[in-house]
Amino acid sequence: MGQGLSCTRSSREHEFFSAVQAGDVELVELCLCRDPEMLHRSTIYDRLSALHIAAANGRLEVLSVILERSVNPDLLNRHKQTPLMLASMHGKIACVQRLLQAGANILMFDSLHGRTCLHFAAYYGHFDCLQAILAAAHSTPVADSWGFARFVNVRDGNGATPLHLAARHRRPECVHILLGNGALVCASTGAYGYPGSTPLHLAARGGCLDCVRELLAWGADRLQRDSSGRIPYMVALKRNHGACAALLNPASAEPLVWPSPLKFISELDPEAKLLLEAALMEANREREKNILKGTSYSLPSPLHSDDGMDDNVSEPETSDSELCCICFDQVCTIEVQDCGHQMCAHCTLALCCHNKPNPATLCTSTPVCPFCRSNIARLVVAKMKTDDEGEKDAPSKTRRLRRSCNLSEGSSSFKGLSALGSFGIISGRGSGRRASTSEITDKP
Ligand SMILES: [Zn+2]
Ligand SMILES: [Zn+2]
Repeated sequence: MGQGLSCTRSSREHEFFSAVQAGDVELVELCLCRDPEMLHRSTIYDRLSALHIAAANGRLEVLSVILERSVNPDLLNRHKQTPLMLASMHGKIACVQRLLQAGANILMFDSLHGRTCLHFAAYYGHFDCLQAILAAAHSTPVADSWGFARFVNVRDGNGATPLHLAARHRRPECVHILLGNGALVCASTGAYGYPGSTPLHLAARGGCLDCVRELLAWGADRLQRDSSGRIPYMVALKRNHGACAALLNPASAEPLVWPSPLKFISELDPEAKLLLEAALMEANREREKNILKGTSYSLPSPLHSDDGMDDNVSEPETSDSELCCICFDQVCTIEVQDCGHQMCAHCTLALCCHNKPNPATLCTSTPVCPFCRSNIARLVVAKMKTDDEGEKDAPSKTRRLRRSCNLSEGSSSFKGLSALGSFGIISGRGSGRRASTSEITDKP
Protein backbone atom coordinates (compact mmCIF):
# COMPACT_ATOMS: atom_id res chain seq x y z
CA MET A 1 0.00 0.00 0.00
CA GLY A 2 3.04 2.22 0.17
CA GLN A 3 2.79 3.42 3.74
CA GLY A 4 6.59 3.42 3.91
CA LEU A 5 8.78 6.41 4.29
CA SER A 6 11.11 5.94 1.38
CA CYS A 7 11.02 9.51 0.16
CA THR A 8 11.11 12.38 2.61
CA ARG A 9 12.33 15.87 2.16
CA SER A 10 14.79 16.36 4.91
CA SER A 11 16.41 14.45 7.68
CA ARG A 12 14.16 16.26 10.18
CA GLU A 13 11.06 15.17 8.34
CA HIS A 14 12.43 11.70 8.05
CA GLU A 15 13.06 11.59 11.79
CA PHE A 16 9.53 12.85 12.46
CA PHE A 17 7.74 10.42 10.15
CA SER A 18 9.86 7.53 11.42
CA ALA A 19 8.90 8.41 14.99
CA VAL A 20 5.23 8.48 13.99
CA GLN A 21 5.50 5.13 12.27
CA ALA A 22 7.28 3.58 15.24
CA GLY A 23 4.80 5.06 17.70
CA ASP A 24 7.51 6.98 19.57
CA VAL A 25 5.29 9.56 21.26
CA GLU A 26 8.11 11.42 23.04
CA LEU A 27 10.11 11.92 19.89
CA VAL A 28 6.98 12.96 18.00
CA GLU A 29 6.22 15.60 20.62
CA LEU A 30 9.83 16.77 20.59
CA CYS A 31 9.76 17.14 16.81
CA LEU A 32 6.50 19.08 17.03
CA CYS A 33 7.96 21.43 19.65
CA ARG A 34 10.86 22.17 17.34
CA ASP A 35 8.68 22.62 14.29
CA PRO A 36 4.85 22.58 14.62
CA GLU A 37 4.64 22.86 10.84
CA MET A 38 5.63 19.19 10.62
CA LEU A 39 1.96 18.31 11.05
CA HIS A 40 1.18 19.79 7.66
CA ARG A 41 3.98 18.10 5.77
CA SER A 42 3.55 14.90 3.86
CA THR A 43 5.80 12.26 2.36
CA ILE A 44 6.87 13.08 -1.17
CA TYR A 45 5.57 10.18 -3.16
CA ASP A 46 2.41 8.96 -1.43
CA ARG A 47 1.68 12.37 0.14
CA LEU A 48 1.06 10.73 3.49
CA SER A 49 0.59 13.02 6.45
CA ALA A 50 1.68 12.06 9.95
CA LEU A 51 -1.98 11.31 10.66
CA HIS A 52 -2.10 8.81 7.77
CA ILE A 53 1.05 7.08 8.95
CA ALA A 54 -0.16 6.87 12.56
CA ALA A 55 -3.56 5.52 11.45
CA ALA A 56 -2.17 2.92 9.05
CA ASN A 57 0.25 1.64 11.65
CA GLY A 58 -2.20 1.64 14.53
CA ARG A 59 -0.29 4.22 16.58
CA LEU A 60 -3.15 5.36 18.77
CA GLU A 61 -1.13 7.57 21.12
CA VAL A 62 0.58 9.41 18.30
CA LEU A 63 -2.74 9.73 16.51
CA SER A 64 -4.27 11.31 19.61
CA VAL A 65 -1.35 13.72 20.03
CA ILE A 66 -1.85 14.89 16.46
CA LEU A 67 -5.65 15.11 16.68
CA GLU A 68 -5.38 17.13 19.90
CA ARG A 69 -3.52 19.78 17.91
CA SER A 70 -6.76 20.27 15.99
CA VAL A 71 -5.56 18.83 12.74
CA ASN A 72 -8.28 18.16 10.16
CA PRO A 73 -8.97 14.41 10.53
CA ASP A 74 -9.80 14.13 6.83
CA LEU A 75 -6.42 14.94 5.29
CA LEU A 76 -5.95 13.35 1.86
CA ASN A 77 -3.02 11.37 0.51
CA ARG A 78 -2.04 10.96 -3.12
CA HIS A 79 -5.08 8.75 -3.79
CA LYS A 80 -7.45 11.02 -1.88
CA GLN A 81 -7.53 8.49 0.94
CA THR A 82 -8.22 9.68 4.46
CA PRO A 83 -6.52 8.42 7.63
CA LEU A 84 -9.85 6.70 8.44
CA MET A 85 -9.67 4.74 5.18
CA LEU A 86 -6.12 3.60 5.94
CA ALA A 87 -7.02 2.56 9.49
CA SER A 88 -10.03 0.60 8.13
CA MET A 89 -7.85 -1.02 5.48
CA HIS A 90 -5.26 -2.15 8.02
CA GLY A 91 -7.78 -3.14 10.69
CA LYS A 92 -6.59 -0.64 13.28
CA ILE A 93 -9.80 -0.54 15.26
CA ALA A 94 -8.61 1.76 18.05
CA CYS A 95 -7.49 4.34 15.50
CA VAL A 96 -10.77 3.95 13.60
CA GLN A 97 -12.65 4.71 16.81
CA ARG A 98 -10.44 7.66 17.70
CA LEU A 99 -10.80 9.16 14.22
CA LEU A 100 -14.58 8.72 14.28
CA GLN A 101 -14.63 10.36 17.68
CA ALA A 102 -12.68 13.27 16.20
CA GLY A 103 -15.41 13.65 13.60
CA ALA A 104 -13.73 11.99 10.61
CA ASN A 105 -16.02 11.95 7.59
CA ILE A 106 -17.18 8.41 6.75
CA LEU A 107 -18.51 9.45 3.35
CA MET A 108 -15.29 10.32 1.50
CA PHE A 109 -14.39 8.52 -1.74
CA ASP A 110 -10.81 7.77 -2.78
CA SER A 111 -9.60 8.42 -6.32
CA LEU A 112 -8.38 4.88 -7.06
CA HIS A 113 -11.72 3.00 -7.14
CA GLY A 114 -14.08 5.52 -5.59
CA ARG A 115 -14.23 3.56 -2.33
CA THR A 116 -15.24 4.64 1.16
CA CYS A 117 -13.88 3.53 4.52
CA LEU A 118 -16.79 1.05 4.66
CA HIS A 119 -15.61 -0.55 1.40
CA PHE A 120 -12.09 -0.90 2.78
CA ALA A 121 -13.21 -2.49 6.04
CA ALA A 122 -15.40 -4.98 4.10
CA TYR A 123 -12.76 -5.71 1.46
CA TYR A 124 -10.08 -6.52 4.02
CA GLY A 125 -12.48 -8.30 6.37
CA HIS A 126 -12.03 -6.07 9.41
CA PHE A 127 -15.47 -6.62 10.86
CA ASP A 128 -14.75 -4.68 14.05
CA CYS A 129 -13.89 -1.60 11.99
CA LEU A 130 -16.93 -2.22 9.82
CA GLN A 131 -19.14 -2.29 12.88
CA ALA A 132 -17.60 0.88 14.32
CA ILE A 133 -18.20 2.76 11.06
CA LEU A 134 -21.80 1.53 10.85
CA ALA A 135 -22.38 2.60 14.45
CA ALA A 136 -20.99 6.03 13.62
CA ALA A 137 -23.21 6.24 10.55
CA HIS A 138 -26.24 6.22 12.83
CA SER A 139 -25.11 9.31 14.69
CA THR A 140 -23.30 11.43 12.12
CA PRO A 141 -24.71 13.91 9.62
CA VAL A 142 -24.45 11.15 7.00
CA ALA A 143 -27.53 9.56 8.50
CA ASP A 144 -29.47 12.76 7.85
CA SER A 145 -28.13 13.66 4.43
CA TRP A 146 -27.83 10.22 2.89
CA GLY A 147 -29.85 7.97 5.10
CA PHE A 148 -28.36 4.94 6.83
CA ALA A 149 -29.69 2.37 4.34
CA ARG A 150 -28.17 4.24 1.44
CA PHE A 151 -24.83 4.48 3.21
CA VAL A 152 -24.72 0.72 3.89
CA ASN A 153 -25.26 0.18 0.16
CA VAL A 154 -22.85 2.89 -1.01
CA ARG A 155 -21.31 1.99 -4.39
CA ASP A 156 -17.71 2.42 -5.46
CA GLY A 157 -16.60 3.59 -8.91
CA ASN A 158 -17.41 0.18 -10.38
CA GLY A 159 -20.81 -0.14 -8.78
CA ALA A 160 -19.69 -2.50 -6.01
CA THR A 161 -21.26 -2.18 -2.57
CA PRO A 162 -19.35 -3.17 0.57
CA LEU A 163 -21.39 -6.42 0.52
CA HIS A 164 -20.11 -7.25 -2.99
CA LEU A 165 -16.51 -6.77 -1.85
CA ALA A 166 -16.97 -8.80 1.35
CA ALA A 167 -18.59 -11.67 -0.59
CA ARG A 168 -15.90 -11.65 -3.28
CA HIS A 169 -13.04 -11.60 -0.79
CA ARG A 170 -14.38 -14.33 1.47
CA ARG A 171 -15.32 -12.25 4.51
CA PRO A 172 -18.30 -14.05 6.06
CA GLU A 173 -18.31 -11.96 9.27
CA CYS A 174 -18.54 -8.78 7.25
CA VAL A 175 -21.21 -10.31 5.03
CA HIS A 176 -23.18 -11.16 8.15
CA ILE A 177 -22.89 -7.69 9.69
CA LEU A 178 -23.73 -5.91 6.44
CA LEU A 179 -26.81 -8.05 5.84
CA GLY A 180 -27.94 -7.43 9.41
CA ASN A 181 -27.64 -3.69 8.76
CA GLY A 182 -29.78 -3.62 5.65
CA ALA A 183 -27.33 -4.37 2.83
CA LEU A 184 -29.27 -5.31 -0.30
CA VAL A 185 -28.72 -9.02 -0.84
CA CYS A 186 -29.61 -9.01 -4.55
CA ALA A 187 -27.92 -5.76 -5.71
CA SER A 188 -26.12 -6.10 -9.05
CA THR A 189 -22.70 -4.59 -9.62
CA GLY A 190 -21.95 -2.26 -12.50
CA ALA A 191 -18.55 -3.10 -13.88
CA TYR A 192 -17.07 -4.80 -10.81
CA GLY A 193 -16.25 -8.47 -11.37
CA TYR A 194 -18.44 -9.74 -14.14
CA PRO A 195 -21.02 -7.03 -14.86
CA GLY A 196 -24.34 -7.58 -13.23
CA SER A 197 -22.96 -9.88 -10.54
CA THR A 198 -24.89 -10.18 -7.30
CA PRO A 199 -23.16 -10.80 -3.96
CA LEU A 200 -24.09 -14.48 -4.47
CA HIS A 201 -22.25 -14.58 -7.83
CA LEU A 202 -19.19 -13.06 -6.16
CA ALA A 203 -19.32 -15.45 -3.19
CA ALA A 204 -19.58 -18.32 -5.69
CA ARG A 205 -16.55 -16.97 -7.47
CA GLY A 206 -14.59 -16.60 -4.24
CA GLY A 207 -15.66 -20.09 -3.20
CA CYS A 208 -16.52 -19.11 0.37
CA LEU A 209 -19.09 -21.55 1.70
CA ASP A 210 -19.86 -19.44 4.78
CA CYS A 211 -20.56 -16.41 2.60
CA VAL A 212 -22.85 -18.45 0.35
CA ARG A 213 -24.63 -19.79 3.43
CA GLU A 214 -25.13 -16.30 4.89
CA LEU A 215 -26.40 -14.86 1.63
CA LEU A 216 -28.84 -17.73 1.06
CA ALA A 217 -30.10 -17.37 4.63
CA TRP A 218 -30.87 -13.74 3.85
CA GLY A 219 -32.89 -14.64 0.81
CA ALA A 220 -30.32 -14.31 -2.01
CA ASP A 221 -31.85 -15.51 -5.25
CA ARG A 222 -30.13 -18.57 -6.73
CA LEU A 223 -31.77 -17.89 -10.09
CA GLN A 224 -30.69 -14.27 -10.60
CA ARG A 225 -28.47 -13.96 -13.70
CA ASP A 226 -25.50 -11.69 -14.33
CA SER A 227 -25.12 -9.72 -17.57
CA SER A 228 -23.78 -12.77 -19.38
CA GLY A 229 -26.76 -14.82 -18.28
CA ARG A 230 -25.06 -16.99 -15.66
CA ILE A 231 -26.58 -17.99 -12.35
CA PRO A 232 -24.26 -18.26 -9.29
CA TYR A 233 -24.34 -22.06 -9.57
CA MET A 234 -22.60 -21.89 -12.95
CA VAL A 235 -19.96 -19.50 -11.58
CA ALA A 236 -19.15 -21.88 -8.71
CA LEU A 237 -18.96 -24.86 -11.08
CA LYS A 238 -16.63 -23.05 -13.41
CA ARG A 239 -14.30 -22.20 -10.52
CA ASN A 240 -14.44 -25.77 -9.20
CA HIS A 241 -16.00 -24.76 -5.88
CA GLY A 242 -17.95 -27.98 -5.56
CA ALA A 243 -19.52 -27.57 -2.12
CA CYS A 244 -20.66 -24.03 -2.96
CA ALA A 245 -22.07 -25.31 -6.24
CA ALA A 246 -24.04 -28.00 -4.43
CA LEU A 247 -25.75 -25.39 -2.24
CA LEU A 248 -26.26 -23.04 -5.19
CA ASN A 249 -27.75 -25.73 -7.40
CA PRO A 250 -31.34 -24.57 -7.97
CA ALA A 251 -32.37 -28.23 -7.79
CA SER A 252 -31.19 -28.67 -4.19
CA ALA A 253 -33.43 -27.99 -1.20
CA GLU A 254 -34.05 -24.34 -0.41
CA PRO A 255 -32.55 -23.12 2.84
CA LEU A 256 -34.56 -21.45 5.58
CA VAL A 257 -34.51 -17.70 5.04
CA TRP A 258 -34.22 -15.15 7.84
CA PRO A 259 -37.73 -13.66 8.03
CA SER A 260 -36.52 -10.07 7.82
CA PRO A 261 -39.77 -8.58 6.45
CA LEU A 262 -41.56 -9.40 9.71
CA LYS A 263 -41.84 -6.36 11.95
CA PHE A 264 -41.08 -8.18 15.20
CA ILE A 265 -38.00 -9.76 13.60
CA SER A 266 -36.53 -6.39 12.65
CA GLU A 267 -37.18 -5.20 16.21
CA LEU A 268 -35.55 -8.15 18.00
CA ASP A 269 -33.29 -7.42 20.93
CA PRO A 270 -29.71 -8.60 20.32
CA GLU A 271 -29.97 -11.63 22.61
CA ALA A 272 -33.11 -13.00 20.99
CA LYS A 273 -31.63 -12.28 17.58
CA LEU A 274 -28.53 -14.32 18.38
CA LEU A 275 -30.66 -17.27 19.50
CA LEU A 276 -32.80 -17.22 16.38
CA GLU A 277 -29.85 -16.74 14.06
CA ALA A 278 -28.08 -19.69 15.62
CA ALA A 279 -31.23 -21.80 15.18
CA LEU A 280 -31.42 -20.75 11.54
CA MET A 281 -27.82 -21.66 10.82
CA GLU A 282 -28.23 -24.97 12.63
CA ALA A 283 -31.36 -25.86 10.68
CA ASN A 284 -29.65 -24.96 7.42
CA ARG A 285 -26.60 -27.02 8.29
CA GLU A 286 -28.87 -30.02 8.70
CA ARG A 287 -30.19 -29.39 5.20
CA GLU A 288 -26.68 -28.95 3.88
CA LYS A 289 -25.67 -32.32 5.25
CA ASN A 290 -28.40 -33.91 3.17
CA ILE A 291 -27.47 -31.89 0.10
CA LEU A 292 -23.79 -32.74 0.36
CA LYS A 293 -24.33 -36.36 1.39
CA GLY A 294 -24.71 -37.51 -2.18
CA THR A 295 -21.67 -35.55 -3.35
CA SER A 296 -18.00 -36.09 -2.71
CA TYR A 297 -17.60 -32.81 -0.87
CA SER A 298 -16.78 -32.77 2.78
CA LEU A 299 -17.66 -29.70 4.75
CA PRO A 300 -14.51 -27.65 5.22
CA SER A 301 -15.96 -25.29 7.81
CA PRO A 302 -14.77 -25.91 11.38
CA LEU A 303 -18.40 -25.58 12.40
CA HIS A 304 -18.99 -29.04 11.08
CA SER A 305 -16.05 -30.87 12.56
CA ASP A 306 -17.53 -31.15 16.03
CA ASP A 307 -20.91 -32.75 15.57
CA GLY A 308 -20.66 -34.43 18.92
CA MET A 309 -20.35 -31.09 20.61
CA ASP A 310 -23.31 -29.71 18.70
CA ASP A 311 -25.44 -32.54 19.98
CA ASN A 312 -24.48 -31.76 23.54
CA VAL A 313 -25.41 -28.13 23.12
CA SER A 314 -28.85 -28.86 21.77
CA GLU A 315 -29.55 -31.43 24.45
CA PRO A 316 -31.82 -29.90 27.09
CA GLU A 317 -29.85 -29.20 30.25
CA THR A 318 -32.81 -28.50 32.47
CA SER A 319 -35.74 -30.56 33.62
CA ASP A 320 -38.56 -31.73 31.40
CA SER A 321 -40.76 -28.84 32.49
CA GLU A 322 -38.58 -26.44 30.48
CA LEU A 323 -39.13 -28.34 27.25
CA CYS A 324 -40.71 -26.70 24.24
CA CYS A 325 -44.32 -27.87 24.00
CA ILE A 326 -44.17 -28.01 20.22
CA CYS A 327 -41.17 -30.21 19.52
CA PHE A 328 -40.57 -31.68 23.00
CA ASP A 329 -36.95 -31.68 21.98
CA GLN A 330 -35.43 -28.28 22.76
CA VAL A 331 -35.60 -25.99 25.75
CA CYS A 332 -37.93 -22.99 25.66
CA THR A 333 -35.78 -19.95 24.98
CA ILE A 334 -38.14 -17.53 23.26
CA GLU A 335 -41.20 -15.88 24.74
CA VAL A 336 -44.01 -14.43 22.65
CA GLN A 337 -45.35 -11.12 23.79
CA ASP A 338 -47.83 -10.02 24.88
CA CYS A 339 -49.33 -13.46 25.64
CA GLY A 340 -46.23 -14.86 27.36
CA HIS A 341 -46.23 -18.27 25.66
CA GLN A 342 -42.84 -19.87 25.24
CA MET A 343 -41.20 -22.14 22.71
CA CYS A 344 -37.74 -23.03 21.52
CA ALA A 345 -35.78 -20.93 19.03
CA HIS A 346 -36.10 -23.62 16.34
CA CYS A 347 -39.87 -23.72 16.54
CA THR A 348 -40.11 -19.91 16.65
CA LEU A 349 -38.02 -19.68 13.56
CA ALA A 350 -39.94 -22.39 11.73
CA LEU A 351 -43.14 -20.54 12.56
CA CYS A 352 -41.78 -17.34 11.00
CA CYS A 353 -39.99 -18.91 8.04
CA HIS A 354 -42.98 -20.90 6.90
CA ASN A 355 -44.79 -17.68 6.17
CA LYS A 356 -42.79 -16.81 3.10
CA PRO A 357 -43.94 -13.91 0.99
CA ASN A 358 -46.20 -14.87 -1.84
CA PRO A 359 -44.04 -14.21 -4.92
CA ALA A 360 -47.06 -12.96 -6.85
CA THR A 361 -48.15 -10.34 -4.34
CA LEU A 362 -44.98 -9.92 -2.24
CA CYS A 363 -47.36 -10.11 0.67
CA THR A 364 -46.19 -11.66 3.91
CA SER A 365 -48.77 -13.16 6.18
CA THR A 366 -47.79 -12.46 9.74
CA PRO A 367 -47.57 -15.53 11.94
CA VAL A 368 -49.53 -15.68 15.17
CA CYS A 369 -48.77 -17.34 18.49
CA PRO A 370 -49.35 -21.08 17.89
CA PHE A 371 -50.83 -21.52 21.38
CA CYS A 372 -53.40 -18.75 21.56
CA ARG A 373 -53.42 -17.39 17.99
CA SER A 374 -52.95 -13.85 19.20
CA ASN A 375 -50.79 -11.52 17.13
CA ILE A 376 -47.10 -11.55 17.96
CA ALA A 377 -46.06 -8.08 19.05
CA ARG A 378 -42.56 -8.92 20.19
CA LEU A 379 -40.23 -11.87 20.70
CA VAL A 380 -37.95 -11.81 23.70
CA VAL A 381 -35.60 -14.23 25.41
CA ALA A 382 -37.54 -16.43 27.83
CA LYS A 383 -36.42 -16.09 31.41
CA MET A 384 -34.79 -19.30 32.52
CA LYS A 385 -35.51 -20.61 35.99
CA THR A 386 -32.33 -22.14 37.23
CA ASP A 387 -32.97 -22.83 40.92
CA ASP A 388 -35.81 -23.76 43.24
CA GLU A 389 -35.98 -20.34 44.82
CA GLY A 390 -36.52 -18.79 41.44
CA GLU A 391 -39.46 -21.08 40.96
CA LYS A 392 -41.07 -20.11 44.23
CA ASP A 393 -40.58 -16.43 43.60
CA ALA A 394 -41.95 -16.49 40.14
CA PRO A 395 -45.01 -18.68 39.81
CA SER A 396 -45.68 -16.92 36.53
CA LYS A 397 -48.12 -17.86 33.88
CA THR A 398 -45.27 -19.37 31.92
CA ARG A 399 -44.45 -21.70 34.76
CA ARG A 400 -48.06 -22.79 34.86
CA LEU A 401 -48.03 -23.12 31.14
CA ARG A 402 -45.18 -25.56 31.33
CA ARG A 403 -47.00 -27.59 33.96
CA SER A 404 -50.09 -27.78 31.84
CA CYS A 405 -47.95 -28.93 28.97
CA ASN A 406 -46.72 -31.82 31.05
CA LEU A 407 -50.21 -32.73 32.11
CA SER A 408 -51.27 -32.85 28.55
CA GLU A 409 -48.72 -35.38 27.46
CA GLY A 410 -50.27 -38.18 25.58
CA SER A 411 -53.21 -36.18 24.43
CA SER A 412 -53.54 -36.31 20.70
CA SER A 413 -55.81 -33.36 20.10
CA PHE A 414 -53.87 -30.47 18.69
CA LYS A 415 -56.63 -28.46 17.15
CA GLY A 416 -56.46 -25.21 15.35
CA LEU A 417 -52.71 -25.24 14.99
CA SER A 418 -52.44 -25.72 11.28
CA ALA A 419 -49.32 -23.60 11.22
CA LEU A 420 -47.63 -26.27 13.26
CA GLY A 421 -48.15 -29.00 10.73
CA SER A 422 -44.69 -28.39 9.40
CA PHE A 423 -42.90 -28.54 12.69
CA GLY A 424 -42.32 -32.22 12.18
CA ILE A 425 -39.51 -31.18 9.88
CA ILE A 426 -37.68 -29.62 12.75
CA SER A 427 -38.12 -32.30 15.33
CA GLY A 428 -37.20 -35.88 14.86
CA ARG A 429 -38.74 -36.85 18.15
CA GLY A 430 -41.90 -36.34 20.10
CA SER A 431 -44.38 -36.82 17.32
CA GLY A 432 -46.56 -38.92 19.58
CA ARG A 433 -46.45 -36.41 22.45
CA ARG A 434 -48.64 -33.50 21.68
CA ALA A 435 -50.29 -30.93 23.84
CA SER A 436 -53.91 -30.09 23.76
CA THR A 437 -54.70 -26.57 22.70
CA SER A 438 -57.35 -26.05 25.29
CA GLU A 439 -55.09 -27.07 28.11
CA ILE A 440 -52.19 -24.95 26.93
CA THR A 441 -54.26 -21.82 26.63
CA ASP A 442 -55.89 -22.39 30.03
CA LYS A 443 -54.18 -19.52 31.78
CA PRO A 444 -55.36 -17.54 34.76
ZN1 LIG B 1 -39.58 -26.48 19.86
ZN1 LIG C 1 -49.79 -17.01 22.95
